[in-house]
Amino acid sequence: MGPTTAGEAEPSAAGPDRRIVIVGAGLAGSLLALALARRGLASTLVGPALGVPGPGPSANAAEGQPALAATALSYGSLLGRAAARAWQELERQHGPLGWQPAPLLLHGWPAPLGLLPVSLQGLATAALAFSRVDTVALAAALPAALAAAGVERQEAMVVRIAAGAGGWRLSLASGGELLAVQLVLAAGAGSRSLWPERPERLRFSWAGVLVGAGDRTAAAAAGSGSPASGAWGVSPWLRHARRGGIVQPLGWQRPALEARSDRLEREEWIVDAGLAPWGSRVLLGQISLVGPDLDPQCPPDPAGMEQRLRQGLAALDPRLAAWPGPYCQVAVPYASNGQPLVGPAVGRPGLWLFSGFRAAFSTVPAQAERLATELQAALG
Ligand SMILES: Cc1cc2nc3c(=O)[nH]c(=O)nc-3n(C[C@H](O)[C@H](O)[C@H](O)COP(=O)(O)OP(=O)(O)OC[C@H]3O[C@@H](n4cnc5c(N)ncnc54)[C@H](O)[C@@H]3O)c2cc1C
Repeated sequence: MGPTTAGEAEPSAAGPDRRIVIVGAGLAGSLLALALARRGLASTLVGPALGVPGPGPSANAAEGQPALAATALSYGSLLGRAAARAWQELERQHGPLGWQPAPLLLHGWPAPLGLLPVSLQGLATAALAFSRVDTVALAAALPAALAAAGVERQEAMVVRIAAGAGGWRLSLASGGELLAVQLVLAAGAGSRSLWPERPERLRFSWAGVLVGAGDRTAAAAAGSGSPASGAWGVSPWLRHARRGGIVQPLGWQRPALEARSDRLEREEWIVDAGLAPWGSRVLLGQISLVGPDLDPQCPPDPAGMEQRLRQGLAALDPRLAAWPGPYCQVAVPYASNGQPLVGPAVGRPGLWLFSGFRAAFSTVPAQAERLATELQAALG
């Protein structure tokens, strides 16, 4: 099949050359497409829709399946009034996207606070402006929001990109091709293989969580006398997540691990024990693994990762370690120096990067605005 210029089938008023092609329909790509649409700029968003993992030992292990987006398995938490306002504004423009206030409960306080009952420890963070985007609700809402904004969708994986006459040529796994004059890589961990010349600091980790049953299933389990039933009934951490709150460690280990990841000679992992509601279920996580030669197509052994995660959860509350699961893992993009890649690729006309965010749910809405404005200026 010959190449089609993105937007040819449904050209924008300004012509197909002005249609921006975005690879990756996770948080970054989707919010960028919406930000472009609000400026009247046409875009084609290429990549699988956000999927919710099904049951099984590892959502990523199935051969031939596209990797799950980090967005789909995220706690989606965000800190601060500015970040909350940005999501409220997005919802005002595009309809409900899953944003909601969520009380934060931190664990790991030093004595005497850390010795108090968990309910009293929660008072320390009760006044914080903390909220979350329920990523199950977000995944369900995005297709309609994108369609209503006029964003064209191509639910295909991109196998490779190449610069050529007239723009960037995208080869699709389905066999077709797309031609893009302006191409944005927002493919998360997939951006690395699509553009090997990328800055070295754009990396990814493997993150894993247990997906706990929701209210009704848990109530049924409570009657069965399973180990999980005790956890559900008694663990105050689980009770907090069940009520819509987020549990996180006072001191995150992941940022430090990411910061030293480009100097690592072998894989390292940490567990930042935490819980978050996720649709009608609960996520219990999270283990993060980084290393010098990770491959997004080769997830780490899920059984080993799950065992390490359970050990980490046991340190918070042994009852959580007994939660049945399933275990799921995804590749999560990050920038090792904490600076996301937002803007044009140096020396590559027409190629733009949008990836590697820290605290993505807090920062991506504003960064999408910034990049959309830059793209608008570039298009004159
Ligand atoms: C357990 C967990 C908890 C987290 N908690 C938080 C939190 O509380 N707050 C927070 O801010 N962040 C959190 N994060 C991180 C956050 O979820 C991610 O940083 C963010 O979702 C990344 O979004 P993205 O769009 O850049 O990447 P992704 O969500 O990974 O999206 C990339 C998309 O590109 C697609 N793609 C890849 N390759 C190709 C290709 N070749 N062709 C077409 N499409 C392709 C993928 O299928 C995917 O849909 C958490 C992550 C995890 C895993």
